[in-house]
Amino acid sequence: MKITLIYPGIAQIGFGSFGRGSPTTNLMSLGLGYLGASIRKNTKHEVDAIDLRKMKGWDDFGRELKERSCDVAGVYTNTVNFEYAMKCAEIAHKMGKTVIAGGPHATLNPQELLDTGSVDHVITGEAEISIVDVLGRLDGGLAVDRVVQGQPVEDLDELPFPDRDLFNLDKRLKYLPGIFPFPPRYAGVLASRGCGFNCRFCQPLERKIFGKKLKFRSVGNIIKEVVQLKERYGVEFIMFQDDQLTQNREWVLDLSAEMKKVGIAWGALARVDTINEQVVRSMKEAGCLMLQFGFESGSQKILDFLRKRAKVEQAVEAARLCHENGVLIFANYMLGVPTETGEDVEATYELMKKINPEIHALSYFSPIPGSDLYDYCKERDLINVTSYDMYARGAVENKLKGTDYKALDRVKKRIEKCTPAWYQEGYYASCVMKRWKKLAQQGHTVHMLKELVTHTPMLDGTVGAVYRMVKR
Ligand code: SF4
Repeated sequence: MKITLIYPGIAQIGFGSFGRGSPTTNLMSLGLGYLGASIRKNTKHEVDAIDLRKMKGWDDFGRELKERSCDVAGVYTNTVNFEYAMKCAEIAHKMGKTVIAGGPHATLNPQELLDTGSVDHVITGEAEISIVDVLGRLDGGLAVDRVVQGQPVEDLDELPFPDRDLFNLDKRLKYLPGIFPFPPRYAGVLASRGCGFNCRFCQPLERKIFGKKLKFRSVGNIIKEVVQLKERYGVEFIMFQDDQLTQNREWVLDLSAEMKKVGIAWGALARVDTINEQVVRSMKEAGCLMLQFGFESGSQKILDFLRKRAKVEQAVEAARLCHENGVLIFANYMLGVPTETGEDVEATYELMKKINPEIHALSYFSPIPGSDLYDYCKERDLINVTSYDMYARGAVENKLKGTDYKALDRVKKRIEKCTPAWYQEGYYASCVMKRWKKLAQQGHTVHMLKELVTHTPMLDGTVGAVYRMVKR
């Protein structure tokens, strides 16, 4: 039997977007990578993958799927890309393929998928173990439940590493823009699964996918994968994509000690209340260039409303630790949270001034289906989202009724203005210079010039002005 895995991640970026612009246009789906590896390791079935971002349009996708001659199409679903995922399922179904769907949205609402009439089976939660059983049953002509509860993975070390070749990682790395301003050849790694916190805008969805138990890979197992990425694919920057890497201090200190021996640059997500001086220093010494925090708000009232379980002072302290140790701060924060007042918004503005992050990622609050805060908004008829496409990450769109988005736009502009331009930051600038040098050495001159223009405000302004003059 042959299975083709389909990644439908084109929301807001469109067809043909692979490798263009931001890193989200080329990050490989680790979920499908794990699934493919599990199928290859545990069955004799053939497996390949289609990335919708590489397709020119639906006709192209249809042609490609036909050429693959698979028996089963495995479609990944998340909320943002749900409509594209279902279109893939529809095309596959019309070709007579058995369609199996999985991923966060499938876990959240399996019936919604079955109701489309294009999906035959849904696997919820972790699917690496159950997919093997489902394929075996289909191959043997046995009955398979329409909704299969994925068997939880007890020991993450038992899983094979994500299959990077399935997505042609080697080829991808040749023209990936990477995460600006870090080294261009980068890859994502998942070192743990689950989160022990209970943020209202995120849970219980996260627990539905990975279960209540926190699961950590052994340090040795992670390092083996990192070394493989470095040696086999020439990866120069690892992004740990865990919900947060710092929830187990002892483990993260061990991991840092081993990462130091590998000698590779890396970044991770963290919480302001799970780090301390020792953790940040060890991470930095081990090659960590950047930590990404969900600061969310500068108002303690809003942090409590979000059940963030963190204090504003802890955010300030975390930023101090990063600045002192030379770790760049990637700040996620939101405006437009229900119950937020003008005073709360001002507090977030003040916090951002104080934190002074090198990288900003401001979002207007999105009520994510499956979270408690979504239910809160739904009960109060606050939701203004008309399509799943509007959930695209980082979108600053009108998501809630009764929110003054014009006022938020004004604050957003003030925040952008008060942040020192990146070129004034010596450390950040040196990262950028190294990156451009590397891109040029690797022959990516066009990409290097593109970045040079778009990330240098003065040049960007000049090129823009010349372009406008020529156009006139
Ligand atoms: S937002 Fe982050 S810290 Fe909070 S529950 Fe979700 S994954 Fe955990």
